[in-house]
Amino acid sequence: MPFCPNCSTEFVDGTDTCSDCDVALVADRPVRKQDDEGSHAKTDFVVLRSYATRMEAEMIVETLANEGITGLIKSNEAFGMGTGLGVMAPTRIQVWVSQDDLQVAGDLADSTIDPV
Ligand SMILES: [Zn+2]
Repeated sequence: MPFCPNCSTEFVDGTDTCSDCDVALVADRPVRKQDDEGSHAKTDFVVLRSYATRMEAEMIVETLANEGITGLIKSNEAFGMGTGLGVMAPTRIQVWVSQDDLQVAGDLADSTIDPV
């Protein structure tokens, strides 16, 4: 179906001008999915702080979320190894944030919990 390159409204076949924008319709749909993925990939996540426990990291992520900042938790915990507790290397839980949020997130994190 033709669509308007200006407002992206779809029209029925046979229409050749957007009634709103008065521009010629084009045949291909805009590929919004790729655009979204592209902009998502451009966000650079960096390590904000490391914590000794997941509980602390989750507390930080929650604090950040309250300020509208997305925090990700990454850790070197070994999942599903069946090795039991106490035999794994010391765990460091990392909280990652967008590069853009690093400054604000750092202040928030340090006022919540002292980093390791
Ligand atoms: Zn239009």
